[in-house]
Amino acid sequence: MEVMLDLEILKSESYNFKIPLFLKNLSINKGKLIVFSAPSGSGKTTLVHYLLNERTDLAFSISATSRKPRENEIDGKDYFFLSKEDFINKIDNGEFLEYEEVYDGTFYGTLIDEVERNSENGVNVIFDIDVIGGINIKELFPERTLAIFVQPPSIEALEERLKKRGDNSPEEIDKRVEKAIKEIEYSSAFDEIILNANLEESKKIASKYVDKFLNQ
Ligand code: 5GP
Repeated sequence: MEVMLDLEILKSESYNFKIPLFLKNLSINKGKLIVFSAPSGSGKTTLVHYLLNERTDLAFSISATSRKPRENEIDGKDYFFLSKEDFINKIDNGEFLEYEEVYDGTFYGTLIDEVERNSENGVNVIFDIDVIGGINIKELFPERTLAIFVQPPSIEALEERLKKRGDNSPEEIDKRVEKAIKEIEYSSAFDEIILNANLEESKKIASKYVDKFLNQ
């Protein structure tokens, strides 16, 4: 399969992409930002949950999404689940730090208020967002962001993992795999890459990178 290398190609797939210009004045400048990005199924959510359980110095950035909740997902904990109409209204009101139409017709984004709320008291914020979202946060706040890319050991392993997870239809899995092939091309835009072949090893590496960044 042909891989597209131009970041603009990925970005142009998003809805009316725009980044608010007034962000520099927000109290978002207080805490540090730790971004985990990866193709869907790479294990980044597992690593983010591990760090949140292990440490008391991180707060999770709850994203908004227009997709429906999965079984066991809680509104206001896993995501803020919005209708597509509400999501688009919030885009138009400039309420997002970043957002993407991650899959056709399905929006995901980081609400400015959510990051503000967390970073107000100097709390460090951890993000579990897609690759373009991660690059956007790093571009917005290059000094205070540690951007980590979680790489699957192979595309086959990723596909297998998505199938086992059982959350997506075969068509959705195909789309996620196709997107993953493009996303892996952008790993070099990140500060660190974790090749997630062995989860226990990856947890240790993730902790080490976070420790180093928070202590510097
Ligand atoms: P899922 O539907 O599996 O929960 O998430 C699909 C993808 O959307 C994942 O790669 C996830 O990290 C990403 N995602 C979740 N929240 C955000 C967000 O706020 N912004 C962006 N750009 N991507 C997000």
